[in-house]
Amino acid sequence: MRSSTAFPLNDDIIGHILRFCADFETLQAAIHSISRQVAYNLVGPALPQALRVVRYPYFDNCKPEDDPSAMAAACPEDSNVLEAINFDKQAMLDENARAVEKLEDLYSLMDKDRTSKTSVLTAEESCRFCCAMYRLMLYCNIFYSYDYNMEHGQEYDDEEYRRAIIAQRTAVLSVYSTNELRQMYSALQFLTEIASTLSSLRARRVHSTHGRTAPMMFSTLLGEIWAEGFLDTPFENIWSARKVTAPPSKSLTEGILDSVNNAGDLCSQCDTTGTIYSTTTWCLFPVKYLLKDNLLENPLINRYFEDVVDPRLNSPAALERFIGALFALRTGEFAFWDPADLYCFECFTEFLQNQMWVWMLKHAVRYGWTPPENCPYGWDCEQQTYDEGHANVWNHLCEPVDETLQDVDDAT
Ligand SMILES: [Zn+2]
Ligand SMILES: [Zn+2]
Repeated sequence: MRSSTAFPLNDDIIGHILRFCADFETLQAAIHSISRQVAYNLVGPALPQALRVVRYPYFDNCKPEDDPSAMAAACPEDSNVLEAINFDKQAMLDENARAVEKLEDLYSLMDKDRTSKTSVLTAEESCRFCCAMYRLMLYCNIFYSYDYNMEHGQEYDDEEYRRAIIAQRTAVLSVYSTNELRQMYSALQFLTEIASTLSSLRARRVHSTHGRTAPMMFSTLLGEIWAEGFLDTPFENIWSARKVTAPPSKSLTEGILDSVNNAGDLCSQCDTTGTIYSTTTWCLFPVKYLLKDNLLENPLINRYFEDVVDPRLNSPAALERFIGALFALRTGEFAFWDPADLYCFECFTEFLQNQMWVWMLKHAVRYGWTPPENCPYGWDCEQQTYDEGHANVWNHLCEPVDETLQDVDDAT
């Protein structure tokens, strides 16, 4: 859901109206009310949560002796502070709202409706998602500075230090209702899902400047969120204190979505449901699965992939184009796979992996490479993964030769 930014009056008229204010107090109140309205237009119904993120008095150097209940109670969401939103906070609010909006689009595409690249969440679903995101953002901002392994941890007895921090984390989460926590938990699973794709990209692109980047506040926190005890232990503490069952760990929708569109769609090849890829979601395919396992571990081919293929996958749109090119190339048993069809993850991976090495072979030959003799085990060869000499001497961008024929060859 998008918030409306249409304002019915132009600036001159607003200026005139403000000049009629009888005193400064009225003017202040008017400005406050206008800035809050603008903030609402920007953020939507999750404004109280968004405002708490920018207004929270982050304890600069969090210490284990900080009072957990004071940390939990600081600047509550329902506080109606008559404080104008200053320029710095406006900028933060703006940046966070853009990030949350992008995440909502991605969430909607992944989990609500894979036919639309902009969010089609209902007003209620959108509000739940955004509130959960801002609450996670606040939590991460508060506890970001903590690290169990940090040098200054030595000042404290380790176990005591750990227990104090877990108490603070549990207290900060405890202000939310069980439903709100379940929404945060689903939002966290969603971030985990994105992070696993991002980290696979980043791992591949250590030397590349083209990598897709997560919104800033999350990219710096990615390592932190899943650190042991950062969120899992406080969540577990609360489930057990409230005697409720923990939400399923793989559910990204529980508590947030009321319904999922096209949930009954089937894979065109194997008739299963689940994650279904169509042209709109090609861009979500995790790049790390483009190469068959053994080819991925062949150093020569891996390097070639990094140098030639990776730079072609530097944005979601580029990945989409590349997959389009693989479809244009389809051969053999895949000749009739239609780009307009729906595919489950397994079938889509099989298709892409089989076109990927064909693409690399054609590309290399076009640029003057003369392949050495084909290894009889082709892309499936184990030896290429541990024997660099073998990997360099034989071509592995080829189909394995039928093993029975191979035996006949060996015998003659
Ligand atoms: Zn399938
Ligand atoms: Zn081989």
